[in-house]
Amino acid sequence: MFQAKAYSAASADTPLAPVFIERREPGEKDVVIDIAYCGVCHSDLHAVRNDWGRTRYPIVPGHEIVGTVAAVGSGVTAWRVGQTVGVGCMVNSCGHCGACQDHEEQFCERGMTATYNSIDKYGDRTVTKGGYSTRITVNERFVLGIPAGMPLDRTAPLLCAGITTYSPLKRFSAGPGMRVGVVGLGGLGHVAVKIAKAMGAQVTVISHSEGKRVDAERLGADDFLATSTPGMFRERANSFHLLLDTVSAQHDYNEYLGLLDRGGTMVLVGMPEPSPVRASTLIDRRRQLAGSLIGGIAETQEMLDFCARHSVLCDIELIPIDQINLAYERMLKSDVRYRFVIDMQSLRNS
Ligand code: NAP
Ligand code: ZN
Repeated sequence: MFQAKAYSAASADTPLAPVFIERREPGEKDVVIDIAYCGVCHSDLHAVRNDWGRTRYPIVPGHEIVGTVAAVGSGVTAWRVGQTVGVGCMVNSCGHCGACQDHEEQFCERGMTATYNSIDKYGDRTVTKGGYSTRITVNERFVLGIPAGMPLDRTAPLLCAGITTYSPLKRFSAGPGMRVGVVGLGGLGHVAVKIAKAMGAQVTVISHSEGKRVDAERLGADDFLATSTPGMFRERANSFHLLLDTVSAQHDYNEYLGLLDRGGTMVLVGMPEPSPVRASTLIDRRRQLAGSLIGGIAETQEMLDFCARHSVLCDIELIPIDQINLAYERMLKSDVRYRFVIDMQSLRNS
């Protein structure tokens, strides 16, 4: 074991604070990464505040990790010391079930090991600790290569926000001729706009207020709708082929479903407590409601390569780690333009 500095929350109502944590020495197939940057996902906030009721305290969040390989185990062939790499939302899976064989480790039938707040059941059975930390030890299968030339701070959020939006956009064939609505312009939403545009779709941002109209256009959206505009849902009914719902707070799915054209699909990636859905909204015009969870490791690498090719990077606010609690408060008010990223040098220096 070796020690790393980290930021951790002791309970749902205590702020994140500095601690020392133990990391394992690299096993045969492990890679040790010096973390340079870690993005701040709304899932980190849901987990820290126990919104989903399954948080194990103390928790060290963070699953948008980029850094440099510091050491490798004797059996590691894919990675070398000094390489620039990333880690996303998963750090292990069984490797043998149907889902793993299909490269969809996020749906591992024995359960994937999440980067934080998960029992490391293929390892030492401790609770995993995430990227708000100076170093992490990860099995080589769950390490991603960062394409040359990508600025690391603006790339970090792709490890979750990028794959979570790329995967359903690809699965539901976002491309030329498709009218895509991105619901919620936050961390996931702003990457979704860029990726959907790079895929060739016609993209509309659907935001809860007028405040982000100018930004939406700057990010490349073709159109902007504010749900606060009276009559908007009625006037724009039946307009979209695909809606990607990234909203982190409770809202009425029925209203948004009505925006779908015949046969259209609304994909939920945002994870608030569920709202009930009326069957008649789906039955009318054969609309479909779907969900999507991050993406597999191979698809995450594909997404990184796609973003490098199309110059898709995140719009970030780089923060020192001692501003993390303030960042959470701002995220709760939808006041992020458009992803907080922690500069881990600030933790090393502290
Ligand atoms: P975020 O940066 O905080 O963005 C969420 C956006 O939701 C806000 O910017 C805001 O957009 C909208 N919103 C917030 N409160 C709202 C309200 N009361 N009514 C309507 N809209 C509201 O969060 P994020 O990091 O993108 O994550 C979004 C959600 O995705 C979270 O629930 C997170 O847990 C989930 N997630 C899921 C996966 C997955 O695999 N499925 C992966 C990562 C994250 P506007 O201001 O434009 O309305
Ligand atoms: Zn995330």
